[in-house]
Amino acid sequence: MSDQGPLPMPLGGNFTVPKHVSDFFASVEKLIPGHILGMIISSKPDNDRVTVVSCKETSYARWRKHTVMPGFLNDKNWKKYMGLMRDQGGHNTCWAVVTAELISAIRFILKYDTKFTEYSAQYLVDYADPAKALANYEQERHYCYTHSVAKGLDFILDGGIPTEAHWKYEGCRKPRAYRPPKDDPHVHIADEMLYHLQFHPIGASLALFLPDYSTIKKGVYRGPTSIDSVYKCPHAVSIYAIEVVDGETIALVKSTHGTELGDKGYFRVSLDTMLVEVPHKGKTANRDFARPCRLLSRFCFPKLPPLQV
Ligand SMILES: [Zn+2]
Repeated sequence: MSDQGPLPMPLGGNFTVPKHVSDFFASVEKLIPGHILGMIISSKPDNDRVTVVSCKETSYARWRKHTVMPGFLNDKNWKKYMGLMRDQGGHNTCWAVVTAELISAIRFILKYDTKFTEYSAQYLVDYADPAKALANYEQERHYCYTHSVAKGLDFILDGGIPTEAHWKYEGCRKPRAYRPPKDDPHVHIADEMLYHLQFHPIGASLALFLPDYSTIKKGVYRGPTSIDSVYKCPHAVSIYAIEVVDGETIALVKSTHGTELGDKGYFRVSLDTMLVEVPHKGKTANRDFARPCRLLSRFCFPKLPPLQV
């Protein structure tokens, strides 16, 4: 959902900066460096309010830019197809859980499976990148590792995926002897998320800020909100519905940290919130927030081969 289209070729010419504009830039420069302010203004915020959240390690500018929810999503909610709520605990398995639950949901919704079938997240952890698993085990004593839903789906293209019944979820374990592939879903990277959500849930990457993510419960997650806020990592989730509350477009997502966080494991994430990092003096921005972005990105889903009738 990038708002950064190609820049137009600049035309030659002169212009004058009115004094009140240069005064404005001079006064705001104390809060936000000019090049970051320029990016914010270029993104065309909905109103004139930009909030700078100052945290211990860095700061973030936050503003609002509305995401219009198309009418065709009004009655779409895929929650009941999303399967068990998982708790990844201290393991990096969110990408595998989300990949497997998307396969389960989409195969059932599109009638590839006649009954709801859970596919194996463990299989993906075990085999999507065994070299990474072993390297991580040497460093952190974990066979789990960070990966993306897109890479998980990509692996299934060649590696297939067995059902959960055949390959149970344990989280983190030494990889076992390889089992040959069976299934053949194709990955599709969705640039237009809302369009595809009318047919099935989709995977996404959520910018995970602590403690905000842990404390938000049933509230609307808008990223960093206090001096203690810290950006931890991108976190894989499934988006199963969109709603508009008080004019704000909100994605309903299923996470993988058990039922204690969010609303029994489900979260409400603002799709109207824009963020850019304003690093402390002498520091550089994390590349995830070096340019204006939203809290959900990297949308993808498996595109299944034609259904054999
Ligand atoms: Zn682990």
